[in-house]
Amino acid sequence: MTIGANPGELIPNRTGGSTGEPTCFFLDRPTVERYEAARWLGLSWYGIRIGDPSVMIWGSPIELNRQDARRYQLKERWLKNRLMIPAYDLDQSRIEEHVRTIRRFRPVYLYGYASALALFAELMLQAGLRLGFPLKAVVSTAETLHDHQRAVITEAFEAPVVNEYGARDGGIIAYQCPAGSMHAFSENCYLEVVDPVTGEPLPVGEVGVLLVTDLHNRVMPRLRYQLGDMLALSSQNCTCGINYPVLQEIDGRVDDMFVSMRGSFVHGHFINHIIRNMESFRTFQLVQHEPDRLTLRLVKHPERFRADDEEKVLQGIRSALGDASIRLEYVEHIPPTPSGKTRYAIRECPLTVSPRPE
Ligand SMILES: [Zn+2]
Repeated sequence: MTIGANPGELIPNRTGGSTGEPTCFFLDRPTVERYEAARWLGLSWYGIRIGDPSVMIWGSPIELNRQDARRYQLKERWLKNRLMIPAYDLDQSRIEEHVRTIRRFRPVYLYGYASALALFAELMLQAGLRLGFPLKAVVSTAETLHDHQRAVITEAFEAPVVNEYGARDGGIIAYQCPAGSMHAFSENCYLEVVDPVTGEPLPVGEVGVLLVTDLHNRVMPRLRYQLGDMLALSSQNCTCGINYPVLQEIDGRVDDMFVSMRGSFVHGHFINHIIRNMESFRTFQLVQHEPDRLTLRLVKHPERFRADDEEKVLQGIRSALGDASIRLEYVEHIPPTPSGKTRYAIRECPLTVSPRPE
């Protein structure tokens, strides 16, 4: 901490803690406001202004006790002009009521976890529901936004789907512009991409682990802090005219990477690519316990299930990861984590393994 910082003015925060122990750190007020300003700047690219009403489809009131939850709701509603819809109790029976609530509130934009927005959108489509008024944007945050999620959200809400890249522990790092690029807010933080095993800096365009250095937090700056995301930086300029540097691709979390039996890294997305064109399965989750030992959980589509798709999925996994032992479980649903996120790919073994001979 800087000498002279007033401990009473420090703002405590903690890392997400979805894997491992959360770490506590401190921010000063200007740093919090700079990151918040970055969010409003990103939203302004879509014509959204400070104070515009929004609906947040979110996870975590479970973390709060009843009194704190009520205080939180009031603060959201009256200070932020924001209505919260909890994502953990989303189901077909409640979707109509939620849609009515949104219509009454008439937000300018929606905000939420990619998986919660996609589930909400899917339930709306299944029930034949539409909002019936235009939104300026649907902002997806905190999780990797998969293509199939973007498609269903676009279809249900008939609005641009905007990817916000940031985290509770990271501040707002980048925002998607109307031309589709992720622009990094480079005046708030310095970004580097390094090799996940050696820690050596990687050339522009190569996917690696992101390190973040805060440029303004004078009380406890994060120096080359690993947020846990894999991405590549780009040297390209965007056609939209915004001059912030472009992140070439956000490949997801380090936690979402799998290790093949050959010792190479395979992004957990590969399972989406295998399954997304099959109608047999509603959803899925792949867990890698060891490089050669996995569990695949599948939720069957009641009418469209075809037995030979099962073998195709297993073959696809083996061609990506090697001839591993895969335990197959059919389940009713994939439970979200306590924060409301759903994880499709979970790796339990360390990423840094030495390569094995073929
Ligand atoms: Zn752009």
